[in-house]
Amino acid sequence: MSLLLRDVVVEGRLVDVRMSGGKIAAIDRPIDPQLGDDIVDGGRGALLPGLHDHHIHLVALAAAERSPFVGPPAVNDDDQFTTALRQADTTLGQGEWLRAIGYHESVSGPLDRWRLDALVAARPVRVQHRSGAEWVLNSRALDVVGLDGGEPHDDRPGVERDDAGRLTGRLRGLDHWLRDRLPPPPAPDLAPVGRRLSRYGVTGVTDATPVMSTDDLAPLAAAVATGDLPQRITVTGGPRLSAVAPPAPLARGPVKLIVADYAPPTLAELVRWIGVAHEAGRPVAIHCVTRPGLALALAAWDEAGVLAGDRIEHGSLVPPDLRSRVATHGLVVVTQPGFVLERGDRYLSEVHPGDLPHLYPCRSLIEAGIPVGGSTDAPFGHPDPWRAIATAIERRTVDGAPLGLREAVAPERALALFLTAPDAPGGMLRRVTVGAPADLCLLDAPLSRVLEEPSSSHVALTLHEGVIGPRN
Ligand SMILES: [Zn+2]
Repeated sequence: MSLLLRDVVVEGRLVDVRMSGGKIAAIDRPIDPQLGDDIVDGGRGALLPGLHDHHIHLVALAAAERSPFVGPPAVNDDDQFTTALRQADTTLGQGEWLRAIGYHESVSGPLDRWRLDALVAARPVRVQHRSGAEWVLNSRALDVVGLDGGEPHDDRPGVERDDAGRLTGRLRGLDHWLRDRLPPPPAPDLAPVGRRLSRYGVTGVTDATPVMSTDDLAPLAAAVATGDLPQRITVTGGPRLSAVAPPAPLARGPVKLIVADYAPPTLAELVRWIGVAHEAGRPVAIHCVTRPGLALALAAWDEAGVLAGDRIEHGSLVPPDLRSRVATHGLVVVTQPGFVLERGDRYLSEVHPGDLPHLYPCRSLIEAGIPVGGSTDAPFGHPDPWRAIATAIERRTVDGAPLGLREAVAPERALALFLTAPDAPGGMLRRVTVGAPADLCLLDAPLSRVLEEPSSSHVALTLHEGVIGPRN
């Protein structure tokens, strides 16, 4: 399988690029085609390394393609929320679960079982909060998972009750517990996810789900094998899988550790988890979204020591005092600029004004010498990395309000967030060179023009190991 891409611009130079055996075989101009070469006209567009999304959740993204999204910016008020749920209700078979995601209080206030019952009572319904940490179940769903009964017999932490001792339907931090009580989900169809990411020029992702069993990774491995996912996939996995190799051809990334604001681990626990990962030769990726969360993680690193590649996921709030400690430790930050766009308006009304300038920082980290990688955190953020790139430059919310303008970065720097290797977010840029994997993203215009208004609509072609990716 070989392909000759004619008239493309690589690092400012007009060239032809020949690919063979999944790698870039030649870069020159002109290159004479060899027997059997497919020839594609590059239209003088910029040819980049394919984008790598450093933090995504593929199975959840596949599930999200089937579940209505019921939060801003798509759903903003009670009417829209009601419509979205009722519409989804009509598309499902009898007794099937209705699953919705992305809810936020700003849509229609705090959600509980009774609110959901009023909308859909006849089938089990569960709605995930935008944070990903909370589900709200209607009464039918509480019954199905065995929680019903108004009695406070189950004192499981995370199951909320009101002052009268009644279940509110809100379950926090109980994802795994809940999943064990749900009917087995239909096998995730990852092909639409693979197609969609390919359309965005994405040739690699790091799946940052803290899975607890290698069985959870099997669908990803299978989807890569069948070609449903043409991307290169690096996986994390939770602390229990520290010493376990993922099924081929998945690559092993850092161990994912969660410092949740609702139920943080103790310092000793976190130190132990880091130690176990490091002993297995693996860096850790610690989820930190609050100031106390980051402070706890840094305290744990003080004790456990740092391994090259250790990273902070999100770094949603990095004030100057903690920033210098992140830099001193040599830690990497994997950020989601897209949240400034998608969630910025809420942040502006909810976050303490003193913290606003330090939300989803980028430039201040880079200036402090901290490597910064980019990601979408889809399905919690929109999976299009070009939206994140545009927002890293603009720092504007959906409503157009500026948020943390001093954290804006230059267009090339914003693009670079997605051009580093899976094992070194924010490190050396991958390049289009002879011998490199032919994982490439061809744009329909010169790079400088695309970066004036970054958008995935400029992706003309994506190549996965020299093979043209699915187009829609
Ligand atoms: Zn995530």
